[in-house]
Amino acid sequence: MKNHAFQALCFALRRWIIWPLRKPCHIVLLGGPGAGKGTIASQLSPMLGLPHISTGALIRQEIALQTPLGLSLKERIANGGLAPDDDVFDLLVKALKSIPAGHGAILDGFPRTLAQAQRLEQKLESWGIGLQSVIWIELAEPDLIERLSLRRTCTNKDCGRSYHLKFDPPCVESVCDACGHALAQRSDDHPDAISNRLALYKTESMPIRQFYQAPDKEGLVSFLQPTNANTKQEVLAMVLSALSK
Ligand SMILES: [Zn+2]
Repeated sequence: MKNHAFQALCFALRRWIIWPLRKPCHIVLLGGPGAGKGTIASQLSPMLGLPHISTGALIRQEIALQTPLGLSLKERIANGGLAPDDDVFDLLVKALKSIPAGHGAILDGFPRTLAQAQRLEQKLESWGIGLQSVIWIELAEPDLIERLSLRRTCTNKDCGRSYHLKFDPPCVESVCDACGHALAQRSDDHPDAISNRLALYKTESMPIRQFYQAPDKEGLVSFLQPTNANTKQEVLAMVLSALSK
């Protein structure tokens, strides 16, 4: 019965949000590190019938496959750098092209810079389509810090599942529920790394915010302000309400 209700909800969402467009629907999820973009995207994806494209996952996959690009990205990231805009964009375009015509995608972790936002717009325009919606998850900085500092990730690279010691703890302490491997804190979730990531996010997100708020993009972006007191379901409901507008 529960499954039946879920399917009915998915059907209704596709009817309200996707089908009236009659063209590919691309949704961008933005927000600071730890804002929960990946969680929301993985909840939305089956509901809307749209693939979830995470540029972080595309980069990790490239590294795991040990392609020439993957090897160069691995070295750069190990030295504390970010993946270059060009490389991330190429990976994204490849992923978008692999989606059957007429569909769209939920983008998580992209665009990260103004240049990426502009290039995404140009590429979609060259295909005769545009963005359907930009959802910006604005969590207050103390909430982001609480989320990131208590995050633990499965050390099994084929699994990679994330937990939160307060909001989503594993059944057995420090052990992944899904695969039984040990959990660890990602190096970029250590306190020093967190403050660097938040500072970088502040600098890079400001021009993207202005870009998506330009007069010719009226109504494109929705800013949501959940807190750590909201459940995953409550945050998802906020996102769905913004998408159905
Ligand atoms: Zn695991």
